[in-house]
Amino acid sequence: MNDRYMAEALSLANEAAADGEVPVGAVIVRNSDGMIVGRGRNRREKARSSLAHAEIEAIDEASRTLGGWRLTGCTMYVTLAPCPMCSGACANARLDKVIYGAPDTGRQPVCVSEGGCMSDECAGILKAFFAERRQNMNSISLVEAVTDDQLRRIADIANEIWHEYFPGIISTEQVDFMVKKFCSFDAMKENIAGENYIYYFIKHDGKDIGYTAVKPDGRRLFLSKIYLKKEERGKKYARAVIDIHKNYCREHGFEGIWLTVNKHNDSSIAAYKAMGFELCGEGVTGIGGGYVMDDFFYELKIR
Ligand SMILES: [Zn+2]
Repeated sequence: MNDRYMAEALSLANEAAADGEVPVGAVIVRNSDGMIVGRGRNRREKARSSLAHAEIEAIDEASRTLGGWRLTGCTMYVTLAPCPMCSGACANARLDKVIYGAPDTGRQPVCVSEGGCMSDECAGILKAFFAERRQNMNSISLVEAVTDDQLRRIADIANEIWHEYFPGIISTEQVDFMVKKFCSFDAMKENIAGENYIYYFIKHDGKDIGYTAVKPDGRRLFLSKIYLKKEERGKKYARAVIDIHKNYCREHGFEGIWLTVNKHNDSSIAAYKAMGFELCGEGVTGIGGGYVMDDFFYELKIR
């Protein structure tokens, strides 16, 4: 019985995907006779509203069908574990139970709920959606650097970009020092082994045009590096890279992306602000060799 209703929720999720919405669907079933009294699917983009989640829509429809706000005696089937907003809405609607498909990493719904119903199918549709979206993104793609050869290529790109870009902002000696400390092959190997960094080539039409690195940091993703070669700047490629990182966050349950930027790096600060990053702190960090990094911290909230 569960599967039949979850299949119905999945088909609503599919409709959402076809509209370019993150594919999440929900149905509400009256337990006494098994009738579906409410249907909903994610419409956040179309409605331009963070409130337009599948669960909210299904609750709204069920309340109208049943002529009252109390949904006692009803069960919701939703393809993805409800977010805190929807968990609250389900509890307020007095739903007997929420049965969800795919779990949401690192988050337990607060309402009476039970996971694992058709979870592979429910997670699969999300995965496929995000994979497709990544591919279509402006023909910019990220390719993870895994082998030593790939990391050496990233080190070369870093060396080239840092020596071209930073001399106006920090001294040449400090650039040399920082390249060695943060962007050398050895430094990257250490980052990956010790702190779960992920390094990527930024590719455009198959060509290396820069590199980026991230690492999980609690509930947020730390954007350690994002650098484009000189001739590739000003083409909105950085935005496409950030979009890819945002999708990664949504897929893996991260609530935001944060980064540090040199206080004098005006052009990068302006670019981050234009993409929705907000100032969330500042700090001076000693990095050895008598050098410090004098940085602002910026954050982009994902949900
Ligand atoms: Zn929600």
